Amino acid sequence: MTRVAVSGAAGRMGQTVCEAVEAAADLELSGKADPALGVALADVLGEADVVVDFTVPDTALENVKTCLAAGVHVVVGTTGFDLEAARAAAEASEANCFVAPNFAIGAVLLMMVSQTIAPHMPECEIVELHHDRKLDAPSGTAKRTEELIDAAGGNVHQPIHSVRLPGLVAHQEVIFGGEGQTLSLRHDSIDRHSFMPGVLLAARRVGGLPDRFTVGLEKLL
Ligand code: NAD
Repeated sequence: MTRVAVSGAAGRMGQTVCEAVEAAADLELSGKADPALGVALADVLGEADVVVDFTVPDTALENVKTCLAAGVHVVVGTTGFDLEAARAAAEASEANCFVAPNFAIGAVLLMMVSQTIAPHMPECEIVELHHDRKLDAPSGTAKRTEELIDAAGGNVHQPIHSVRLPGLVAHQEVIFGGEGQTLSLRHDSIDRHSFMPGVLLAARRVGGLPDRFTVGLEKLL
């Protein structure tokens, strides 16, 4: 039984993760940290094999460092923080850090297909649409998609278009344009449950990963 503590447990994602961990037969919800609950991350580390962090950009790096320093593996869903600093902290530690800007399988497939298309239709633009309380823009998913398209020889026109409106959850469109034609890919997370299979997979696998620092759910598929 893997013991999982959730950091940001009172948030929109954190609450959904707590429910998903409680419903999984092979995982135990060992702690819930959140200033809104009056529980600090350090207080739940002693009982945890893995921490899942869905907090805010300002605190994510500090949380990662706290987990790694305690030898606890950490799965990070928070976006908009310094990934290279997290990599350095993980590589200097005795625990693993797994980061995914998007845990929804459909969004990961959209990124993979974008990489296949980019060498043939290199010109493209990314439109990402999220709920109006999202703190970072552009989204971590859009930045990661751009990185993968770049690596495949594509050219994402700047800027990434960010839409913030009530009613939205997490959505992304990649539009490729070629002579006399366009090709559009679109993914919609209409419910936060879309992220849960990916989050649970990462919580199960993070401790056995070959590298201290891993980015992207596609690495676990
Ligand atoms: P939210 O504002 O609802 O929740 C954030 C929670 O973190 C709050 O309850 C807050 O009190 C808590 N928090 C703040 N500082 C903390 C600290 N030091 N320790 C522990 N908890 C702390 O936000 P949300 O909508 O749940 O999103 C959280 C993050 O997850 C955002 O960065 C968002 O972009 C990201 N996200 C990622 C994915 C993905 O698939 N990777 C999907 C959805 C959202």
